[in-house]
Order: sequence, then C-alpha cells, then structure tokens
Amino acid sequence: MQTTFKVSRFNPETDEKSQVMTYSVTLAEGATVLDGLKAIREEHDAGLAFRANCERGSCGDCALRVNKKGVLGCTTLIAAVAGKDGVVTVEPIRNVPVLKDLVYDMEAFLWRKLRAVSPGISARTPASAEEHPVAEEAMAKVRAAMSCVMCGLCDEGCTVIAVDENFVGPAALTKAYRAIFDPRDGRQPERLRAISEPTGMWDCAHCFEANGHCPLGIEPTDRIFEMRDEAIRQGIRSGTKNPKVRRHYDSFVNSVKRSGWLDEGRLAIESEGLLNVPGLLHLLPTAARAMKRGKAPLPYFHRRRPGADAIQRIVEKAEGRKE
Ligand code: SF4
Repeated sequence: MQTTFKVSRFNPETDEKSQVMTYSVTLAEGATVLDGLKAIREEHDAGLAFRANCERGSCGDCALRVNKKGVLGCTTLIAAVAGKDGVVTVEPIRNVPVLKDLVYDMEAFLWRKLRAVSPGISARTPASAEEHPVAEEAMAKVRAAMSCVMCGLCDEGCTVIAVDENFVGPAALTKAYRAIFDPRDGRQPERLRAISEPTGMWDCAHCFEANGHCPLGIEPTDRIFEMRDEAIRQGIRSGTKNPKVRRHYDSFVNSVKRSGWLDEGRLAIESEGLLNVPGLLHLLPTAARAMKRGKAPLPYFHRRRPGADAIQRIVEKAEGRKE
C-alpha cells in the first residue's frame, strides 16, 4: 500500500515555525498511522520526532492530529483516515506547546493540570494490615473513568482550552471524577470544592466536544455534569475564590422560579454582583453591542410567562429533593 504522508516538522534550534514535509512510503495492508511514522523514520529521516509506547491504545502516548482529527496513531488504520487522494496529514494535536516535530510539552499541556486535581485516592479507612475489599457494583460508576489513558485528546478538542490554556480541562477533570466517586476515597467535599475554584469545572462550556474526541467513549463532558450535580446536591455552588458561580446559579434558579424563564439581563448583573462596580462596568460594552443588535432584554422588566406556576412548582419540588 503506497501512502503519501504530509508531516508537520519543527526544529526549535533552526525553525521559527513548523513546515510540512512530504514522504512516500510502502506499507502493509492494515498498517496504522504509527507504522507509517516509523517507516518514515527508518527509510527517510531518522530525526523525525514522535512519541509512542504501548502501541495498542493503552498508554495515550501517540495522540496526534491526523487529517485534522485527533486520534491515537497506534490504533488508527491508514485505510480509515487517508483521503481520496491517499494522503495522510500528521500534525501535533492542538492546544499544545510543540517541542519538536510531533512531540509536545506534556508538563505544560497535561501534567500540571493533573497534579492540580490531586488524582490519588485518599483512603477513607486508616491504613492497616487488613484488606478492605470493595464490591464490584460499588466501583461501577467509576469504571469508565478508570480506563482513561490520559491521551489528552479531549483537551485537544476542548473549546475552552482553545481560548484559556489554564482551564483545567476534561482530561484532568475525568481523573478528578474517578477520585470523587471512588467509594474508597474520603475527600469528596474537599475535592468538589477544589475543582469549583476558577479555571475548574464551572468553566466548562458544555459544548460536548470532549465526548466526541475521546477514543474510549468515556464521555468526559457527562462526567463533568455529574460532578456539578453532586456539588450542587452538597450545597457546593462555588469555590472560595469565585462567588460569581454561586451568584450565577442562584440568579438562574430564582429567575426561572419567579417568571418561568430566564431574565438574561438580570442574570448578567446578579452574576457580577450588585455591589461590584468594576464588574458591572465591565459588562457595559457587551450590553451596548447587544442593544445595538436588538438583543439586550431590559433586566428586571421581565414578564411572567404562561405556565410559570407549574414551572415554579417543578423547581420547588427539585429543590425539596435536593435538601
Ligand atoms: S477522557 Fe478520553 S480523551 Fe480524555 S484523556 Fe481520558 S482517554 Fe483521553
């Protein structure tokens, strides 16, 4: 099978930006993208830098962007990704600082975020010589998250990291989930509070890109939702440094309860805080632009919609269940 690879190359010692190099290689039927990169290194350029380890989709090391899609190079068949012209483009995944060719800085991309969520289990029971077996059903909730290989492909697709590299991201939050819902862990409220701080789980924009990018079907966006629900259930509506999340949550719920729908203008004001003058001033340019386009509803002049009584009862019922 003759395949043309267009590979992104970057040498920090000589290049200001990456350039695309073209290689033609002959591969066996059933060859993977990683097989192609190895063939290029053996036959064309021994200096091509890329990462790989287990070669069976278990370590996440060979995450790459192939024909504009984030994949694991070792489990991706060339036949499945090559365009009609037989060309395979290979680049580093997005949202990463590239060190050389296809190798990127995992510390900056992922490891610092992973440490921030303290992914190790803190045993609920004190250490002892006795075993503390856990029933299989008690682990069911975290089984999928346990299979995360930290490939970072959910972070590569994350639309928030694309604009804020400090967002902790779906990969680290998946590890947080695994600890938070592990029946052996004894730090659940503390962990939920920690990921409720700025750049934590409340910064997720629920675009569901992470779900679409995870090669293992872990659905990181859904895991983030579950942690948010649990935090709300426990009355943890924000961390210590971002009361804005709690204000946003309270304003949202009160608005729907009061009128049956969302008072968006009021939500923006109350999320900032009524006494937060700099925050309110910060809203003005956005409000002016929205007004110009006829999209700025007048806050506090919000009519009650038909059926609001029923909606109010639903919200109150949900609140009652929460407590
Ligand atoms: S959740 Fe999926 S995409 Fe994200 S790091 Fe884990 S295995 Fe990779």
